[in-house]
Amino acid sequence: MGCKMEVTKDNTINKKLSKKEYLKGWIPLRYMRYYVAVFATAFTLIIPWITVNGNHFFLFSFIDFKFHFFFVVFDIQELYLLPFLLMILFIGVFGITVLGGRMFCGWFCPQTIFRVVFRDFLETTVFKLRKRIKNKQAEPDFSIPINQVKRVALFLVSIALAFLAAADALWFFIPPEQFFDYAMHITEHSIFMGTWIGITVFLVYDIVFLKEEFCVYVCPYSRIQSVLYDDDTIMAIYDNSRGGQIYNDNHEKLVDKQDQLAPSDLCTTCESCVTVCPTHIDIRQGLQLECINCLECVDACTTIMAKFNQPSLVNWSSVREIEKKEGKTRYMRPKVLGYGVVLAGLFVILMVMGSGKELMLININKQTRLYDIEIVNEKPIIENSYTVLIQNTQSKTHKFYIDVVGNDKIKIQRPSHPFIIKPGVKTKKTLVLYTTEKLANSDRHDTILEVKLKAYAMDEKDKIFAIRDIRFTYPRSDIIEKKLRRVK
Ligand code: SF4
Ligand code: SF4
Repeated sequence: MGCKMEVTKDNTINKKLSKKEYLKGWIPLRYMRYYVAVFATAFTLIIPWITVNGNHFFLFSFIDFKFHFFFVVFDIQELYLLPFLLMILFIGVFGITVLGGRMFCGWFCPQTIFRVVFRDFLETTVFKLRKRIKNKQAEPDFSIPINQVKRVALFLVSIALAFLAAADALWFFIPPEQFFDYAMHITEHSIFMGTWIGITVFLVYDIVFLKEEFCVYVCPYSRIQSVLYDDDTIMAIYDNSRGGQIYNDNHEKLVDKQDQLAPSDLCTTCESCVTVCPTHIDIRQGLQLECINCLECVDACTTIMAKFNQPSLVNWSSVREIEKKEGKTRYMRPKVLGYGVVLAGLFVILMVMGSGKELMLININKQTRLYDIEIVNEKPIIENSYTVLIQNTQSKTHKFYIDVVGNDKIKIQRPSHPFIIKPGVKTKKTLVLYTTEKLANSDRHDTILEVKLKAYAMDEKDKIFAIRDIRFTYPRSDIIEKKLRRVK
């Protein structure tokens, strides 16, 4: 197409390009969302299968109540990391909302990705039930007989995909190897099967029947988003000053046809931005709770305005830039930096706590008797007894033992030998510490002494170990004297 000269509405002379020339190099935001969706889908499908030494990247195992994170396994008693993960999740989503509005909904949310697959790929591209991706408001015409057949085929494909999606969701709670073992023996695992079918039924209902009503009426995120927005939050935003005022402040429509607008207003009232909207809203009314920031309306208006050599009237921009005309959007603002600092801090804490994780579990509690005094060869031996719960959290059997650290006056009487614990097994032991030394000399009160214990796997002493501080009670000297006199 050749170039033409034209006089625009504001009387400047422009070189007229064809729409194709004008859009050269432009990539629809929709395609970028598709790339993100493909990556997110591949990631969630592949990640449950990746293991290092039998440990998963992310698994909250309902089988053995273990939490796998970054290929490190945490026992259920060690879930001190979980609050940090939840804080990172919530603060991260809030931070993304301050920066990019409901971007999570439009770009990452499984609901949106499933709907794109169902509506844009299956219904429109594969089964041709809808005429165009750009018109999401015209529902398929099921009065046509062939469409009824396609509808059944589409429903069956949807059920198959929902089964896969439900299985993928479960793989984060039941590792795939066990999942398929359960699936092969469904009669023995009715709860598992019921959960799988239940999630599948919900997904089919949600994606095929509930559709974007879920985003508009069910999802709580839309309710909180507006309080997080500020003038620099980027979102789909219509430029009234260029396009013309279509709605008044009470959201009443003022304009249906272009000739009702001023000559300088550029909106063609084509409503491409409306028909493409999956949540069925008109972005020209301003920010609405229903907007999921998918930016389809930006793409739609970009292609319409390209015919007039004009930038889109609907932009992915901010109130500061488009409505208030106060210059460029400020991405690096105190609020955003605050979220960044908090997230970085939480991440560092998570990493430090995760790296300091003990590879065994041990719990030591003093028994009810404060101490025992034995007299051997007319010398007192002071004993303190403890109940020890020790768990081998590793995947292979180890031989464990316990040492007193940095104190050669207090020794271990029981257990007298190292003991074997199988993988995942928790064992109860009685620990008896004793001393033949005179560690205190008070006839007014018992003396409490701090003792450090190290429990460890004999074959990996420097790797699989846990250190605990406990208290050793040394009796009053008059009690020891009395016992000695009684024996003599
Ligand atoms: S797509 Fe652009 S020109 Fe068409 S109605 Fe929407 S804002 Fe106006
Ligand atoms: S107005 Fe509709 S099409 Fe535009 S970003 Fe929001 S949800 Fe998407």
